[in-house]
Amino acid sequence: MLSNVITSIRMRYAFAGAAFGSVFTSCALAYDAAFVNPQIQSLTGLVQNNPAHVAMALMPAILGFTFYKVGESRTKLVEELERRETAERSLEHNAFHDSLTGLKNRHALERDVAALIARGIDGDSRPAMMLLDLDKFKFINDTMGHNVGDEILLALSRRLVEAIGRRQTVYRLGGDEFVILWSGAPSSEVICEFCHALVKLISFPFELAKIRLTSGGSVGVTWIEDGDTSMSDALRRADLALYRAKEVPGSHFMLYDRAVAHEAEQRMQMESDLRLAIEEDRFFLEYQPIVHLATDRIKGFEALVRWRMGDRVIRPDMFIPIAEKSGLIIPLGKWVLTEACRQAVTWPDDIGISVNIAGEQFKDGDFVPFVRNLLETSGIAPQRVTLEVTESLFSVDVAVVRKSLTRLRELGVHLALDDFGTGFSSINHLRTFPIDTLKIDRSFTEMMLENEREAELVGVIMKLSKAFGMATTVEGVETHSQLDFIRRAGAGNVQGFLISRPVQEAMVPVLLREQSRLGGGTPEKIVHRLRA
Ligand code: C2E
Ligand code: CA
Ligand code: CA
Repeated sequence: MLSNVITSIRMRYAFAGAAFGSVFTSCALAYDAAFVNPQIQSLTGLVQNNPAHVAMALMPAILGFTFYKVGESRTKLVEELERRETAERSLEHNAFHDSLTGLKNRHALERDVAALIARGIDGDSRPAMMLLDLDKFKFINDTMGHNVGDEILLALSRRLVEAIGRRQTVYRLGGDEFVILWSGAPSSEVICEFCHALVKLISFPFELAKIRLTSGGSVGVTWIEDGDTSMSDALRRADLALYRAKEVPGSHFMLYDRAVAHEAEQRMQMESDLRLAIEEDRFFLEYQPIVHLATDRIKGFEALVRWRMGDRVIRPDMFIPIAEKSGLIIPLGKWVLTEACRQAVTWPDDIGISVNIAGEQFKDGDFVPFVRNLLETSGIAPQRVTLEVTESLFSVDVAVVRKSLTRLRELGVHLALDDFGTGFSSINHLRTFPIDTLKIDRSFTEMMLENEREAELVGVIMKLSKAFGMATTVEGVETHSQLDFIRRAGAGNVQGFLISRPVQEAMVPVLLREQSRLGGGTPEKIVHRLRA
């Protein structure tokens, strides 16, 4: 009640001190007046009679002041405690929340899953974990800037928070990785229904400050199992399910099950076999000729790697993606480039060598110095070497890639954009990256005679490359009519089974000798000789 009248703690203490002092003084003086000096009738008389009474009379003031000081120290103490508590609370909030979105973070997920596990997981109460990842986030971030990336993350986090129910919590693990933890025991039917909606929700366009963007995304789902010891166990399964979901083009979700587990095991097995094969040098190269259409002569060969496993030969499509994911592409890619240069240096000087370079190899800071060193040690003229990069490169850090490509170009090697038309290229990439040749993907070649639109597209790509001063190579030409068509469309070079399948190293000089014997000769003639 006193606190309502006197709000300051210090003043309340001072008041209490003064009150206590007054009571003390009154009692002491009253005692004196009653029993010690009953003859003295007035208060002034009492005080004059004994000087000690002066101090007693001052007691309310003395005690009031002393208590005021005590109150002051207490106030300071309380304030300090409050300050510390606020600091601790904000530290704890920062430790368990993501600064951009305000959502809970990875540490919070770790803590919350540990609490769920400690409570006990049984078949009837398995919580579910959904791991979500945007499709083009890295690309958007790199090409449109981090502000746009942040805007998307914020918009997505708002969508997710609005979409979830009482028993669900959203976490942001970092980058574009989000987790929804679903306590209780959602059945797979309920989860599938929710994930259908979730995938739609992610795929819906984002209205940002300056732009409207659609990203799409995928979701991997697992339950927290009896036997899981931490968040990582469940997250690993969700990640495997997500990996599978991402393999299907478009936005999808995938529940972790035996098939996913089996596939992951196979992939891991393949990865360890691959590691061993690199150590044991189990790879070889085949070469596919590239023919220059204006002269009808072989202008170079593309090196294609093969893996010899017992008496089987494994094609690159089976293992390159695994090599890329596991980082093994770095040593493997170096081996391919070294081997290709070592062999090509023995060919005639006007014959080029093209080598495929995976985007991951650009993440290796050592790549450009490696190429420089290889050119010197192998003795091959740099202008004979073409490095084929794919459009997926543009989803790595664009600035880093541009710098590496420019430095490679300065070394004198040529650069080709492989599988053009299947990925992420924009006109802007063609304009700003130092590309010499566009390799038009096989899928266009397959369709161009059956579909007018594809045929027109091939024409447009030819015009585009001309406008940017680039050469074109059409891949996957298998028939004479396809060859006629691309010749008329103005293609520069051709590659495909019609000319030749990839051949063993020993066949390269044979092919070249044959060509000289024929005095140049059309691709058809080369085909004829090869088939004969
Ligand atoms: P790519 O770079 O597009 O290579 C051309 C692929 O198309 C080769 O398949 C080749 O055999 C095939 N091909 C060529 N002409 C025709 C045709 O007329 N019809 C059909 N149907 N196919 C044709 P391959 O050797 O199986 O290589 C597959 C992919 O693996 C390559 O596609 C390339 O992306 C990758 N690859 C191959 N070697 C390497 C390498 O050393 N490093 C990296 N990073 N990737 C490689
Ligand atoms: Ca290629
Ligand atoms: Ca290609």
